[in-house]
Amino acid sequence: MGRQKKKRSSKNLRITTRISLATIFGIVIPVVIVFIFSSIFLTSITKYFNFSAVSTTSYSMLNQIQWSQTVSSLSKELISNESRAEKINKIDSYVTPLEALGIKLYIDCDGELFYSTEEKDVVMREAQEILTNDFSRNINYFSENGMLIVTHANSGSESYLLLIESKNYTVHDVSDSQLPQSFSSLVFSKTGLIILLIALVFIASTTVLSIITSRTISKPIKKLADGANEIARGNLNHTIDYDSTNEIGQTVSAFNAMSKRLKHSIEEKNRIEQSRKEMIAGVAHDLRTPLTSAKGYVEGLLDGIANTPEKQERYLKTIYSSTIAMERMLDDLLTISRLELGSIELNKKTVELCEVLDDCAEELSLELEKNGFDFIYENKAEPPVYVELDIDRFMRVIHNIIANSVKYTKKEEKGRIELTVTGYQKSVILSISDNGIGIEPENLSRIFEPMYRADRARTKVTDGSGIGLAVCKQIIELHNGQIWANGAVGEGLTVYISLNKTTATDREGTNG
Ligand code: ADP
Repeated sequence: MGRQKKKRSSKNLRITTRISLATIFGIVIPVVIVFIFSSIFLTSITKYFNFSAVSTTSYSMLNQIQWSQTVSSLSKELISNESRAEKINKIDSYVTPLEALGIKLYIDCDGELFYSTEEKDVVMREAQEILTNDFSRNINYFSENGMLIVTHANSGSESYLLLIESKNYTVHDVSDSQLPQSFSSLVFSKTGLIILLIALVFIASTTVLSIITSRTISKPIKKLADGANEIARGNLNHTIDYDSTNEIGQTVSAFNAMSKRLKHSIEEKNRIEQSRKEMIAGVAHDLRTPLTSAKGYVEGLLDGIANTPEKQERYLKTIYSSTIAMERMLDDLLTISRLELGSIELNKKTVELCEVLDDCAEELSLELEKNGFDFIYENKAEPPVYVELDIDRFMRVIHNIIANSVKYTKKEEKGRIELTVTGYQKSVILSISDNGIGIEPENLSRIFEPMYRADRARTKVTDGSGIGLAVCKQIIELHNGQIWANGAVGEGLTVYISLNKTTATDREGTNG
């Protein structure tokens, strides 16, 4: 079967392509919309004001604006509260520059002559020649045969007619060749240019921004992908270098934490695997000793070497103790593997720990003192101390630890074992210390591993399997407690157990 072809779907689009496409659409869509709307808007304005109707080469919007300012200033003057003489004075100041351009002005007030630059008849005739019209309406007229402005201004009681005309008025600010064909095309060309400029600036700035954005996103993502590939290749020491608190930074640090944990768990797995191998080797070695011994004595019996009943009994006793040792070892192995597999259920009950330990200490004291040990029991906890315990299994832990203290004692010194209980607010700590041979501080945590023995060569004759403390650890952890040790070579060993306190209300307890 050939390699499956990757589907061409939008899901597979590269991030940079996605950002570029989003940017292009982000630019094109608003530009098109603005263009359509401004075209519609401009078309409707020119239609509404009928600008194209005033289309002549002499038309100038600038003139229109200038004139509307002049006419409005004159109208304001006429309807002001000033005296007639003052008004005429002001109008004179406007008229002087206009007369120089050949422009004539006529003003009447309620049909009576108010001001005129020439004979009324001359002005009126010329005005009629420029545009035959009735002057009762306002007029703004600019064409090749002249210009004519008629404005009516009312101030309450008085009504003024203002007429400005010039037969030889020419557009002097914009030359004919520069003028567009029509006002609408002028508006369109100018607006179009502005829109084009804005669009260009907009496109340029958005493109630059999108390139920067896409780089800031795609670069760290590429780093992340490279990092993932490194880890996939098995390089668990690889860390991705990206210092930021943003979403990508958070992903990168989560990724680094993940690879660190992965590395740690692989190391842990390797370590456990190694200790398993050591355990198998240890079990094989430890089983071999009693097995060889039993085999030798059985052969001795078969060959008739044990020829007296005393000898035969001694041989049989040795064979029996060898099988007992093997049985105990296999028992320990079975217990640890069942504990590790979680197939052992504890029978936990809420008990008062001081009561339990007081009874236990009494028994221990008798037994230890019988064997030549000093036993000191000190309970510093304020009773009652309630804890959830599977008493049988907990007692096995205590006996295991004390059996070790007995086993690893110094020959030259009288053995001393102390059991101390200290109460804390939420927990209680038991410590069992001895004055035995102790252990190297660097191996303190290893004594809780299955099959670990300080006597690595297993040369010293001890009846230990190296599983006892591993069983203790599993049991204490099933009680949600902790176990650890402290000590040094020649200075004895102290094993600590911490348990969580509980309340007396759940005294009935549950199976755990
Ligand atoms: P073992 O059956 O070998 O005693 P354990 O699991 O009980 O197995 O203990 C593991 C190892 O820890 C022992 O082999 C011994 O080296 C060390 N150890 C345990 N208890 C003591 C102690 N009280 N003093 C010195 N060493 C100890």
